[in-house]
Amino acid sequence: MEDRLVPFRDVWKAKKRIKSIIETTPLVYSEHLSACTGVKVFLKLEQNHPTGAFKLRGAANKILSLSEEEKNTGVTTFSTGNHGIAVAYIAKELGIPCTVCISNRVPGVKVNRLKKLGATVETVGKSQDDAETRCIQLEKEEGMTVIKPFDDKDIIAGQGTIGLEIMEQCPEVEEVIIPLSGGGLLSGVGLSMKSVDPSIQITGVTMEKGAVMQESLRKGHPVSLEEEDTLADSLLGGIGTGNLFTFPMTKKYMNKGVLVSEAQIREGLLFLLEHHKMVVEGAAATGVGLLLSEDYQPESHVVLVVSGNNIDHETMTGLITRV
Ligand SMILES: *Cc1c(COP(=O)(O)O)cnc(C)c1O
Repeated sequence: MEDRLVPFRDVWKAKKRIKSIIETTPLVYSEHLSACTGVKVFLKLEQNHPTGAFKLRGAANKILSLSEEEKNTGVTTFSTGNHGIAVAYIAKELGIPCTVCISNRVPGVKVNRLKKLGATVETVGKSQDDAETRCIQLEKEEGMTVIKPFDDKDIIAGQGTIGLEIMEQCPEVEEVIIPLSGGGLLSGVGLSMKSVDPSIQITGVTMEKGAVMQESLRKGHPVSLEEEDTLADSLLGGIGTGNLFTFPMTKKYMNKGVLVSEAQIREGLLFLLEHHKMVVEGAAATGVGLLLSEDYQPESHVVLVVSGNNIDHETMTGLITRV
């Protein structure tokens, strides 16, 4: 794999770099999922980070890699989801300025969460595109660094530290099932696992509605798709038409891309709630939904990356009360 885009060594460097702020997350055996599937199933609990999602790893690695001057000038992002929260959290930890650009469509709860983390929130225009434009302007005019959500070597290497932990916690692993959106998580974990043993199967899972990476791989180039409502809202969004890293890396490391329906995601969420007393978000439950479907045949030792738990309580209530 000499043409790999991010060297495996960078994942080890990331592990060392983020050690002071990122804790190792637990890997637990799932008695219930193992009984349902007939194979050994383990859950990697990435919702255990203080921000409730794995994105803290990539953001920490990226921001800690900046020069002192870049840190002093500050960072900016236009994500209001798990990535934006992670950037604001790390910036606060390190005491560096952080501006999150948002459109006026972003709900108040999200804005308040970012403000609580000490970020400057700038409201610009009506769409995500307007927010992105402002972010790039901040970079050009004020020298702030835009922290990208997935298509960045340091972000990928940071997410890759999950793979190192899985290897240490479950050296028998034969398959890792990873929620897939922009592909930073899958590229990082794929890189680290396959560098140790290329026979480890990497499975990417996305909701049926709007599986941009999987569709792009089929077409052979990045495509964009219409966004639809989904329980896996953290998996929404494009991969960028000028994608540099995660498109080729997902192509290289993913053995299988699979899709799950909204009903399967719901089943996954309710399964984790009922059997593990675990509240997670839709994106994180996609792998469970997949394993519960009878026609999926997993390898003998499977690790599911449970990627986050930022589910709002209306969605949660809706899930529980709907019959
Ligand atoms: C961002 C995110 C993903 C997908 O990660 P990508 O690197 O964009 O593929 C999955 N689950 C959760 C909870 C996320 O926040």
